[in-house]
Amino acid sequence: MFGIDGADWQVIEPLVRVGKLPAFKRVMAGGATGILRSMEPSASPALWTTIATGVNPERHGIHGFVVGAGGDREDAGAHPAGSHPAGTHGARETGGATGPGQGGSPSTTVRPVTSTMRRAPAFWNILPQYGRKVGVVGWLVTWPAEPTDGFVVSSYLPYLYQWSTGRPLKGTIVSGIPHQTFPEGLIDEVEPLKVKPDGLDQALLDRFYDPARVARLSVDDRECVEGFRWSLACDETYRRIGLKLFDAHPVDLFAVYFGGVDVASHRFWKFAWPHALDYRVGAEETAILGRVIEEYYAWVDAALGEYLERLRPEDTLVVLSDHGFKPVLFPDKPTTSGHHRPEGIIAIYGRAARPGGTIDGAGLLDVLPTILAIMDVPIAIDLEGHVLKDALEPRFALAHAARFVDRYQDAGAAPDPDASSVDDNVLQRLRSLGYIN
Ligand SMILES: [Zn+2]
Repeated sequence: MFGIDGADWQVIEPLVRVGKLPAFKRVMAGGATGILRSMEPSASPALWTTIATGVNPERHGIHGFVVGAGGDREDAGAHPAGSHPAGTHGARETGGATGPGQGGSPSTTVRPVTSTMRRAPAFWNILPQYGRKVGVVGWLVTWPAEPTDGFVVSSYLPYLYQWSTGRPLKGTIVSGIPHQTFPEGLIDEVEPLKVKPDGLDQALLDRFYDPARVARLSVDDRECVEGFRWSLACDETYRRIGLKLFDAHPVDLFAVYFGGVDVASHRFWKFAWPHALDYRVGAEETAILGRVIEEYYAWVDAALGEYLERLRPEDTLVVLSDHGFKPVLFPDKPTTSGHHRPEGIIAIYGRAARPGGTIDGAGLLDVLPTILAIMDVPIAIDLEGHVLKDALEPRFALAHAARFVDRYQDAGAAPDPDASSVDDNVLQRLRSLGYIN
């Protein structure tokens, strides 16, 4: 499973046509593809948890980034700033200034979402009940890392978002925080693969923009670039960790998540498509920053290609996003020019996939039942979606009729039942690292 936050066919298809995305081209030509319909509110932690559990936020309980700001529903989690024009998700990517951490110290009434708050089993809980091993890298709302038969490298995103400088961290390995991985000792294996923004290769950064010319840009434009560097460092970290663990510790289902397309699309849409709305972008800005989004897709395509190279005949590759993107113009938010739209992507390639098939009517809830069917694992009848039959090769579907069970066992015990002590521990650590005041 290759998750790309915010990937959209509208961007992918033209780039495939000009030969810019060879891995996507292969997956689209040889697999089944379609639009994966998202839901509202479109806060990524809720959406990726919906994908992982096959049930709605009402049941899995993860609605946004935080809980506790006047309730634990989406109004708290998905709209931390209340009045933020970007709605569900702009606040987190465009800066912490309007977040609940405003004014310095973290509020005791607002807490980031954690895996301990999830009320429905995710695929990393379900598959081991049927003897399948699972590896998860960077998936949202996986901290603290839960026990599974396999491994979890968790994402810390919520902590860093709410109380950091507002950098668009889609997940970072921070030394000294407990339960970043399961098993705990895996941290020693992945720690050396961590990439920081100032450790990014110059040759890599040069693909996205000319650093010398960035210095001439406005404060807002430079803020976009700075946030982008953080996001690329996070994705590069999970790219390296993912490949290493994929090779070193084979599992039955491997899932990796990349957040940078979403960050680049929020910030650089107006430079890539300066006439999409009345943005009033200068020619020089467009010349300097206009290729960031397409180069980011190319970077993700290369990462996808690394898994394609490793794919065996008995493997299936699922590529998906939680939502797509559209242009948006917020006069008081110059660093946001793209915003979520409901049309995400799904592609299923390899074993069991119907070559050249079109997947119609797919939604986030259908991903898990489809993966379970491909893996010959029983589907709980209380899952809310359906197997995407359009995606499956007809002979495979005939030979692998879906089996059903009433329900799955609940998720295993959380690694630390005393969440508040974990919060304190993490907050203290982040403070000491200068992430928060
Ligand atoms: Zn977003």
